[in-house]
Parts: sequence; structure tokens; C-alpha cells
Amino acid sequence: MCGIVGISGIESAASQAYLSLYALQHRGQEAAGIVAFDGTKTRSHKGRGLVSEVFDAEALARLRGDTAVGHVRYSTAGGQDISNAQPLTARFSRGDLALAHNGNLTNHLDLRNRLVEEGAIFRSSADSETLVHLIAKSRHDTVDTQVDDAMSHLEGAFSIIMSVDSAIYAARDPRGFRPLVLGRKGSGYVVASETCALDILGAEYVRDLEPGEVIRILHGEVTNLRSLKPTDRPAPCIFELVYFARPDSSIWDASVDRARREFGRQLAREHPVEADAVMAVPDSANSAALGFAEESGIPFELGLLRNHYVGRTFIKPLQEDRDFGARMKYNPVKEVIDGKRVVIVDDSLVRGTTSRSLVRMLRGVGAKEVHFRIGSPPVRWPCFYGIDMPTRAELIGSSLEIPEIEAELGVDTLGYLSLEGMVDAVAQGGPYCTACFSGEYPAPLIDVEKGLASPEGPRRC
Ligand code: AMP
Repeated sequence: MCGIVGISGIESAASQAYLSLYALQHRGQEAAGIVAFDGTKTRSHKGRGLVSEVFDAEALARLRGDTAVGHVRYSTAGGQDISNAQPLTARFSRGDLALAHNGNLTNHLDLRNRLVEEGAIFRSSADSETLVHLIAKSRHDTVDTQVDDAMSHLEGAFSIIMSVDSAIYAARDPRGFRPLVLGRKGSGYVVASETCALDILGAEYVRDLEPGEVIRILHGEVTNLRSLKPTDRPAPCIFELVYFARPDSSIWDASVDRARREFGRQLAREHPVEADAVMAVPDSANSAALGFAEESGIPFELGLLRNHYVGRTFIKPLQEDRDFGARMKYNPVKEVIDGKRVVIVDDSLVRGTTSRSLVRMLRGVGAKEVHFRIGSPPVRWPCFYGIDMPTRAELIGSSLEIPEIEAELGVDTLGYLSLEGMVDAVAQGGPYCTACFSGEYPAPLIDVEKGLASPEGPRRC
């Protein structure tokens, strides 16, 4: 998964992009990059690691100009190689291009094979580079129509921000899998994955880009280019609301916090339990756990603390410490848990590895009963549209039934939010893509159908 931002007509655009990427850090921690244009020259700075590690004052000062595109990366398609870090850059007949992409194309191997046969030379393994080649070789006679033409070949999930010299282009795929919002600051504009990236700049939210919409921002003006071909129905990713987006963001015109609280409330209605305390697996499940507490009347407690400063560690776990990974990140508050019947709420269950460790940790500090509640249905299917998920075989919900998962996690009871309950809780924003829960894929998986990609999920890095 990734976070993207574009700045147009704002002084020190790279510094603004930096701040927005800082706010979007949760969408990707592997690499970060900014490309800026100052009217004559395009400059780029990219690196591996967190935004604060990749950039310093000197690097930002070098990125002069009032146009910038930024990206934080969590690799899905392509590998961890730095050549895959974005924004991708290219010089083509009409100017300097910088491209930042969030999502996964489902036909990029097919397109790539064709482009290679026609002589294209790829510099990275990222699916996003396909678009750069399509634009460069489009026979249309303006950048606007070249961009439009190139995008019409793409299938799957793409929210894209691109600059060609001082023009910023922003687009969402016709189903609108990934979010993209437009904001205004003074006489300039900001486009970004989530509203939290506007808030940090003091930019005013204007609107969400519509599914299939392509806009150009240039000299303080937003122009609608032709919309991409409409589809039978939009399919924004419901997992953004479950886990991915920040709760202080609003995406698709809805507050993420409100959506998660509703999931928690519905969960409490579907799986009531007698208990002394409700707690969250922080921070992604905080809102859902508050919703559960509000609906059930069971007090919300801060029973688990999360260390926000964990990065990679060189300390190796001792062989007998099975819970090392979780212990580095979470610690239970004994005084809150000892002798209590606790409900622990998580936003989703993926492999079950963290959850298993957390349950052992709660029992270790004296929990009398542990009731696990999940603010989404079982994750059973891989995501081909940009969320980094394990393969099917690794998903605990795809191979085990509820009683088996209860035993596996060591909980007294387990309750998942139903698919209907989840969708109904946020009905005003649907219909959604629920593929990871339902196995119904709204955009064709062309590379899989053609035998070019594994049905187990996108290539893992
Ligand atoms: P586990 O207990 O190993 O199944 O991990 C579940 C936790 O992973 C939940 O707390 C989620 O917040 C988090 N999670 C869900 N989806 C993802 C994802 N695609 N990448 C990383 N973490 C995730």
C-alpha cells in the first residue's frame, strides 16, 4: 500500500509534500520520495525508510519550486529494490514526468509484455512504470490526451498523482478502489490520499475525486479532463475503513473514526458477552473498541499499551520467547487486567500470529476470561488491488473454522463482524470492494486469468 501527495502552486512545495507524507506515513514505511519542479528543472530525492529518515533540511532545500509530487511506499507489486521507490521519473518529448501511484494494476504484466515486445526498456519491476511507458508512446498530440489515453489501458486499482513540468495530473480508477482528495491552500492546490495530509498543511478540504475522474491542476486552475470509462459500479476498498486509513481522516465523504465505531457497535450487537472491560489492540482498533464499549455498556479500558517507536531491531528473540515480536510492540497493563473478564477488540484477523501472542500476554497477567472480537469478517482472500496481504494459505480465516481459530488463539470466545453487518454499517458510501472477505473481485484479474500472475496473490517481496 502507498500514500501519495501532489502540490501545485504553493511555495516550497517539497516541504509541503514532506509534511503531507509525514501524515501519510501509516500507508507505507519502506521508502519515501519527492520530486519537485521549479519552472526549469526537475529534482528528485528518494530513499529507503521513514519520511523523517529519508529527508533532511538540506535535501528539502535542494528540491526547489512550487510543484511537487510525493510518495510513501509499502511494496505490493514490484520488489523492495530502490529502483521501485517512487515517484518514478522520466524525461519524455513533452517534459519531465514524475509519477506516484497507490494501488495495484491487475493487467500490468500483460501490458508490460506487450510494451517490451515493442521495444520498451523497463528500469524497475514496479507495475506503475507501465503507465510511464504508455504515456511516452501514446500517439495523441497533447499531454492531456496522452495521459487520458494511457490511463484507459489500465485495469485494476490506481489512484495516481503525476507531474509533467508544472502541471499536476490526478486520477482515480473507474471503480475508485483507493482514496484521493483535493484540497486548497491559498491560491494553490493539494491532492492526497487522505484528508490528514491536508490537515497538517492547514489546507482546506475541497472534495473527493470521483471514481474515474482525471483532473489537471495548472496555474491555480483545476480542469476536468475526460472521465475514464464508467463501470457498472464503483468499488472503494472497505478495508481502508477497517484498517488502513487514519481514523482522523475522512475518505469517500465519510469519517473513518465514525465508520469504525459503527463496526464496533454492530459487533457488540452481533456478539454480546458478559465482561468487566473492553480494550483495543491499539491503535488501529481503538475506534471499533470504543464503539463496542458504547453499545455494550462495558467500560473501555486502556489495557494494552503500544510502543510507537519500534523500528527494526538487531536484538534477536530468545528461543523460548514465542511472543517477542508482539512484546516489542505491545505491553499489557496488569492492574487493569488481573482477575477480569476482558473483551479484546481488533480491527481484523490476518495471520493470527499477533493475536495469539496478545492472548498469551493477557492470560499471563491474570485475565480470567478472554473474549476476542473482530471488527470485520474473516479475511479469506488475497488482495489484488493494493493491500499487502499474505497468501491464502497463510490467512487464518481461509483455512480454519471459528472453533478451530478459538482453540488456535486460546480465547474463551471469538466473534467476527458479519459481512452484511459491516457493509450495512457504512451503507451510505457503498457499494464497496469486499474481495478480501467475500472473494468477489470487482475488477478483472487479467494477469491471473492469462496465467501471468499467481491466483494466490500478487507477487510478494
Ligand atoms: P494477526 O494477529 O497476525 O492476524 O495481525 C492482525 C493485525 O494486523 C491487526 O491488528 C491489524 O490491525 C493488522 N493488519 C491488518 N491488515 C494488515 C496489513 N495488510 N498489513 C499489516 N498489518 C495489518
